[in-house]
Amino acid sequence: MTDFHLARKRMVETQIIRRGIRDPAVIRAMSSVPRHLFVEEAFQDQAYGDFPLPIGSGQTISQPYIVALMTSSLRLTGVERVLEIGTGSGYQTAVLAEIAERVVTVERISSLVKKTRRLLEELGYHRVACHLSDGTLGWKDSAPYDAILVTAGSPEIPAELVEQLADGGRLVIPVGTRRHQVLKRVTRDGDRKNVEDLGGCVFVPLIGHSGWKEEEL
Ligand code: SAH
Repeated sequence: MTDFHLARKRMVETQIIRRGIRDPAVIRAMSSVPRHLFVEEAFQDQAYGDFPLPIGSGQTISQPYIVALMTSSLRLTGVERVLEIGTGSGYQTAVLAEIAERVVTVERISSLVKKTRRLLEELGYHRVACHLSDGTLGWKDSAPYDAILVTAGSPEIPAELVEQLADGGRLVIPVGTRRHQVLKRVTRDGDRKNVEDLGGCVFVPLIGHSGWKEEEL
């Protein structure tokens, strides 16, 4: 049987710290979230491997390093209200919830929302709200957000998400083609936005109003 605790410790050392992630809050969060509970049982013994895994409905749980990179790029200090688009398995949600004050997460596939809402509740992540909706429109009711994380690849930066950022807030989003994206960090500065490139990545498509249209895929 796999020793999940040991596998997680190794994952953090070899995939996260050794590759240059320094943020202590991210290291702490990824050392404690039980990633194996967010994948299907058949994949549990591979949960701490250096790759994404299928989570059903044609979607994937991101590779651990990508979760660490995205989370640290948000520069969270612990007091933030965070919006996540693309709940999926809820693993990234749990990592955010370990660090932030409050997490609102939006997913477009109903079966994933139901399953993940239950799991996060069971694991005691009570400061998380999971909604079924098109996340390219954000989640207006709880805006503004100090940080917004999109975990699916988009053809553009959705204007609604930038509008729902607090002044000084950060949006991290993969932007590009279906097959390849660049991770971007958008920092809101009043009415202006500052955009930085953080490196290449590959995500499943963000489908919706300001994302890809289903018929384009
Ligand atoms: N953060 C997730 C990654 C899931 S993959 C995890 O750790 O498991 C990306 C997810 O984005 C998929 O579940 C997909 O259904 C969802 N998604 C795609 N377009 C979306 C949209 N417009 N609104 C909300 N979720 C979306």
